[in-house]
Amino acid sequence: MKQKLKFLIVGLVTVLTIAGCSSGNAAKDSGTFEGSGSGKHGDIKVEVAIKEGKIDKIKVLEQDENKVLAEPVYTELQETIIADNSADVDVISGSTATSEGYINAVKDALKKSGITLVAAGKDKKEKDKIDAEQTFDVVVVGSGGAGFSAAIEASEAGKKVAIIEKMPTVGGNTLLSGGEMNAPGNWVQKNLGIKGDSVESFYEDTMKGGDNIGDPKMVRIMAENALDSAEWLKDEIKVEFLEDQLFQFGGHTYKRALIPIGHTGAEPISKLKAKADELKIPIFLNMKANELIQDDKGKVTGVKAQDSAETAITFHANDAVILTTGGFGSNVDMRKKYNSEYDERYLSTDSEGTTGDGIVMAQSVGAALTNMESIQTYPIANPKTGMISLLADTRFDGAILVNQEGTRFVEELDRRDVISKAILAQTGKYCYQIWNDDIDAISKTKEAHSAEYDELIKEKLLVKADTIEEAAEFFDIDVEGLKATLKKVNEYAKTGDDKDFHHRGGLVSLEKGPYYIEKAIPSVHHTMGGVVINENTEVLDEKGNAIPGLYAAGELTGVIQGANRLGGNAITDIITFGRIAGKTAGGL
Ligand code: ADP
Repeated sequence: MKQKLKFLIVGLVTVLTIAGCSSGNAAKDSGTFEGSGSGKHGDIKVEVAIKEGKIDKIKVLEQDENKVLAEPVYTELQETIIADNSADVDVISGSTATSEGYINAVKDALKKSGITLVAAGKDKKEKDKIDAEQTFDVVVVGSGGAGFSAAIEASEAGKKVAIIEKMPTVGGNTLLSGGEMNAPGNWVQKNLGIKGDSVESFYEDTMKGGDNIGDPKMVRIMAENALDSAEWLKDEIKVEFLEDQLFQFGGHTYKRALIPIGHTGAEPISKLKAKADELKIPIFLNMKANELIQDDKGKVTGVKAQDSAETAITFHANDAVILTTGGFGSNVDMRKKYNSEYDERYLSTDSEGTTGDGIVMAQSVGAALTNMESIQTYPIANPKTGMISLLADTRFDGAILVNQEGTRFVEELDRRDVISKAILAQTGKYCYQIWNDDIDAISKTKEAHSAEYDELIKEKLLVKADTIEEAAEFFDIDVEGLKATLKKVNEYAKTGDDKDFHHRGGLVSLEKGPYYIEKAIPSVHHTMGGVVINENTEVLDEKGNAIPGLYAAGELTGVIQGANRLGGNAITDIITFGRIAGKTAGGL
């Protein structure tokens, strides 16, 4: 259907283009031309309209990019190209591959036009300039899930709120994640007839999963509020979750993770942004916070920031500054400072903006840091880019992991740190994940992540084959070893007893092909450490006193996830504590 639609659109455009050219009005310096460039998830096709030697319009005909990350490319970058009358423009940081694909598509169209364009002057648009002094009641730094939740609650409490975000797009790591959210006793568990889950069980799994280093009081707050946070997302923010599917991430006793439609953080982030827009909360993009401002009594009264032209902008906060800047997974120097293991050898799944700025800013006004050495790798990531593999969420429904010798080496539903360490102990420090269509029918990741599927196939990091021999051959995996492994897996699937690794979800038969084999490595994913906060999300100093006016929530806090965060816990954490921060700053 989608394919047909594409042909229809392309067909229509072609007819219109030919009609336009044949109408005789196409002077030598005017016309419409198509071009294509390679984006992050396949080709981007555009149509460029040129009028009297000036780029007039650029229309995207086909694309499959990440909706949120591509937005500034199709708006901001488009405006720049039109204003400059040239495709020699800078990429949008954080959306590099999409920008390049788009720019190349426009260049391709311009080349085909044969028209020589005269580039306009590159003056910075005056209208983009904002006052260097801004005053709000509450200033939220960072626009991931924690930042949006905090801003929305503070705004609903009647405060004048602003969000400042250093990247050109909102969303941070929340956007790039699978968006799944643990909530014991949730409505989908009821739909699926899953009984027995409880706040206590979720609390215990989280404490244990973090090696009991998390602050029990804070973990309890997260566990007790998890369902309310999920219902808030569903009912107030209008996030749509799948009604008939849940994930059981590693370390959890029950299937308790809600899955947003599309299986990514794009659903919660776009709905949170829509709510912030509805509340008229200004979002200052390309605005990097550098330093907290304190008055002579030590109260935090604002933030010094800079825009993309490095112009200094001061954001004064009458009531509170809420830091929601995320972790430091993308900051290799900071990783090495706190844990020398996680150096350049590790790629990262994280967004470019995840560089620990909030932690550094808070520390410089006396905030206590904790648990900084606890850095988590996600076990199944793209060996070339380090990006998290959401396609490989089939692991939660029975996909197995094997090494180059074709042998299983870990329980696939063990904690991320355990699986990551086990992978690094195998030949080549990588692994292969194997599943079949029966498993995909449960997980439905091939449909949800079709762009990732195509990319992995193209990069030769994924193979689909009718027989296991064929699939193994593609990666030169020991065929006999793999066949022996599958024989055991199929037997354990029948008996329900995985004698080798005690798979807690129960193994699934891999008797039937076609088979999928994906190559993967562990990649830095989450930094558990950060600033110390109390139950009101006030940031505490070394003596345990609250720093007046300063609040924090989300990945930059260090007291909840302990030594290791369990899958599906980030969204629960950031929404719960983000909302508490917003309410507290809102005086509720
Ligand atoms: P969380 O999951 O805790 O909400 P995210 O990683 O989703 O964290 O979001 C954090 C956001 O904060 C990112 O969008 C990131 O670009 C932004 N950010 C990080 N440092 C700064 C800074 N110095 N100024 C403004 N925004 C920042």
